[in-house]
Amino acid sequence: MERRFLDFFYLYLETYLKKRDLPGTLALISEDMRGFGTGMDEKIFSAELIQTLYERDLKQAPSEFRYAIKDLRYTQCCPCTAVIHAELDVETQILEQNIKLHNIRLTTVLTMKDQGIRLQGMHISFPTSVHGENEAYPLKELEEISAVINRLVQEKTSTLQEAYAELQSLVATDKLTQIYNRMKLDEVLDTELRRFTRYGTLFSIILFDIDRFKQINDQYGHLIGDKVLMETAKILTKQTRNTDACGRWGGEEFVVILPETSTLEANAIGERIRKTIEGHTVSGVPQFTISAGVTQVLANDTKVSIMERADKALYMSKNSGRNKVSVL
Ligand code: GH3
Ligand code: MG
Ligand code: MG
Repeated sequence: MERRFLDFFYLYLETYLKKRDLPGTLALISEDMRGFGTGMDEKIFSAELIQTLYERDLKQAPSEFRYAIKDLRYTQCCPCTAVIHAELDVETQILEQNIKLHNIRLTTVLTMKDQGIRLQGMHISFPTSVHGENEAYPLKELEEISAVINRLVQEKTSTLQEAYAELQSLVATDKLTQIYNRMKLDEVLDTELRRFTRYGTLFSIILFDIDRFKQINDQYGHLIGDKVLMETAKILTKQTRNTDACGRWGGEEFVVILPETSTLEANAIGERIRKTIEGHTVSGVPQFTISAGVTQVLANDTKVSIMERADKALYMSKNSGRNKVSVL
């Protein structure tokens, strides 16, 4: 009799631990089995729970558990019931992580039914003492810790990414007008120049300067001057494509960089902006005008040479009476 119970016990270990075979395992279990695991909710008091718990267990750790029986005690309680106490070392992989568990304690109650021997009761527990080298880690705790760490890392990463994006936009934005600042414009110019050198893709720039801005400040005060700057930035953003880069070059000067745009088109866009500003009326903001210099990238251009040409074009507009757009 002892042999048959022991054979059944080994079969259970092979089917459940080694093969991780759910139907095979469930076939060895008595319908009125009871049992406990180490996890808080791992208790079996009904046939449905047997299925649920074994299913979940196999899903969480589907890989083979290699095991070694370290100790085994057999007790025959009556002719049809035996209790087997065993101590096991097991080894498996969970999420590509090698996991060794030492001194797992397993108690099984086996009963002889009409169909043959079945698992009637089960209790499994992991040692949860502090581990040393090569000692057991409690599997469930490990899984829970790893899930928590994953979540924390994800949360931290997304917070950092958000902070980084915010910082990047802060660093690139002019505080007063909320459009690009000079540093960002410099960066875009660099990129466009590299693209032009490598692929020959054209771009144009427009340099704007508000006419007689000093007078606006003197006559209406700095706060109104600031409003004029903000209105200008709004108009520039509205009147250009979102692939264009609008920014404040400094003081009352603005730059628009227009990728894939010739001076002909850039001139038309500059004209449109000039006219919009000329006709712009908003309460609390005096009417004002703007002058512009337009140029497109040429062979061997540098950031300095292209800006100098735009500045010269702007100077032409200023010199010929302001409220003008000139191309060079
Ligand atoms: P022009 O038509 O020749 O361009 O004359 P302008 O008066 O516009 O030129 P100028 O360069 O003499 O004056 C620019 C003024 O812009 C001087 C400066 O005080 C003012 N300014 C620069 N930055 C700001 C700012 O952030 N806010 C205000 N309100 N004024 C500013
Ligand atoms: Mg100026
Ligand atoms: Mg000016």
